[in-house]
Amino acid sequence: MQCPECGGTHIRKNGKKQGKQNHICVACGRQFIDCYKPHRGYSDDVKRHCLRQYVNGTGFRAIERTTGVHHTTIITWVKHVGDLLPDAYAPDTPPEVGELDELETFVGAKKTKSGSGQP
Ligand SMILES: [Zn+2]
Repeated sequence: MQCPECGGTHIRKNGKKQGKQNHICVACGRQFIDCYKPHRGYSDDVKRHCLRQYVNGTGFRAIERTTGVHHTTIITWVKHVGDLLPDAYAPDTPPEVGELDELETFVGAKKTKSGSGQP
């Protein structure tokens, strides 16, 4: 076992946290759970795999279940999706057509109402 902070191997048990064995690094005092996994270090392949699922309409939690990547990590990637999948998805895509129609109907109704009392 290695410390995620300094890479030291002098680790001591430090009680339990949320039912999991907690450890403490003697060298730097960093505490960490048994199966500590750093959130960085995913390859671009893994990112693309998750993002393609997202583009195909899969929810973040469903992607998390199938890939093991935490959904907040995927959300972070989605924010940078333009760099990874420039051909598949643009983050500033205009709203759905349905929403646009609704907006137009609303604006149109407002215009009609305000103009109805005038000669
Ligand atoms: Zn350490």
